[in-house]
Amino acid sequence: MTVREHKSQHEHVESLPLISKSATVRNVEAMDHDRRGEIREKLQELGSKFGFEEAIPDWGNINWDRVFEEATRSNRKLAPQIGAFRDRFERAYPALVRIEFETDKPFDFAAGQYLSIRYGNRTRAYSIASSPNREETELCIRRVPDGRLSPRLCEELSVGDRLTIRGPNGHLLLEDTSKRDMAFLATGTGVAPMKSMIDYTFERGRDEFRGEKRDVWLFLGAAWEDDLPYHGAFRELSDVHDNFHYVPCLSRESWLSKWNGETEYIQDALLKYVDERALDDAAFGQHMAEMLEDRPTVEADAPRIDPHELEVYACGINAMVYSLETAVQRLGVPTRHLHCEGYG
Ligand SMILES: Cc1cc2nc3c(=O)[nH]c(=O)nc-3n(C[C@H](O)[C@H](O)[C@H](O)COP(=O)(O)OP(=O)(O)OC[C@H]3O[C@@H](n4cnc5c(N)ncnc54)[C@H](O)[C@@H]3O)c2cc1C
Repeated sequence: MTVREHKSQHEHVESLPLISKSATVRNVEAMDHDRRGEIREKLQELGSKFGFEEAIPDWGNINWDRVFEEATRSNRKLAPQIGAFRDRFERAYPALVRIEFETDKPFDFAAGQYLSIRYGNRTRAYSIASSPNREETELCIRRVPDGRLSPRLCEELSVGDRLTIRGPNGHLLLEDTSKRDMAFLATGTGVAPMKSMIDYTFERGRDEFRGEKRDVWLFLGAAWEDDLPYHGAFRELSDVHDNFHYVPCLSRESWLSKWNGETEYIQDALLKYVDERALDDAAFGQHMAEMLEDRPTVEADAPRIDPHELEVYACGINAMVYSLETAVQRLGVPTRHLHCEGYG
């Protein structure tokens, strides 16, 4: 199985069939928060514990070089944390938005597909995050620093603006319903096509086959909690459906708040939920064996995953999708049941 790359994606998406030259933006909403206040407080807390409180003023600019120097002199292990706080403090806000728009005429698409969006003089591909059953179409967009289009969509786009929409396109599609369980693996906005597929699955009763419930898993990774698109909606869905298992994995959040969920990369978190009886011992090494022994933090009572009876959908930036693909294949998920899409 190879991850589909979209090499000359910009040219490609400009030539997709036209859906509308004047789709109207109906809603633009930030999904992340400005967390600079929290970071300053946390730094002051660390400062008073390790003796560098004078480096962090109550307001105004933080001298990050000095904070880094003093913090690591007190405790070298603080280096990654200070680096992460600085990245987050300096990042532009909003960095994650959801956008809803309406076209003059409805258009058909399959859950998992993407559209091309033209705004100003730039065209880019964006996955559809809403279910095909919904009237408005929703996108979920991350700001790529210094990118040519995404910062403008995050900052400038407002209700009433017009977009040119082409498509739909893409082969990340749901398999026919079967008794297999489903696992969706994504980081950040890679979850957009999965939001569409998961909503569609439950709306259409595709989480059931011949009277038997199928388990539907979502492993979603990000650095900070507010970088998890649709976190609240997925939590609600797991409250309503016993067979929907939502496993958010956050690499940095516990430095800032009381995060008690998973903190590993999603491919490692997935291992904790796999039924080891289904695995061929010879196929996995020490690292996998250790992860398999680790206890799940969330969804502890959910049935364990049998990789041989699983279909997997993975989406995100290419490098992440490649490593997910490798990990999942080693677990024994049949290649024909592995569906991947890379964002470039
Ligand atoms: C099929 C498909 C679906 C997509 N769906 C979504 C989606 O739902 N939401 C979304 O936010 N984006 C999505 N993208 C990515 C999107 O098309 C743009 O590439 C992204 O918004 C950056 O555009 P830009 O003009 O701001 O940056 P550009 O000026 O085009 O690029 C700046 C640089 O950033 C790199 N880059 C591009 N995307 C990322 C990224 N995500 N993270 C880090 N670096 C990146 C590029 O390789 C380039 O080097 C999708 C891409 C594809 C191919």
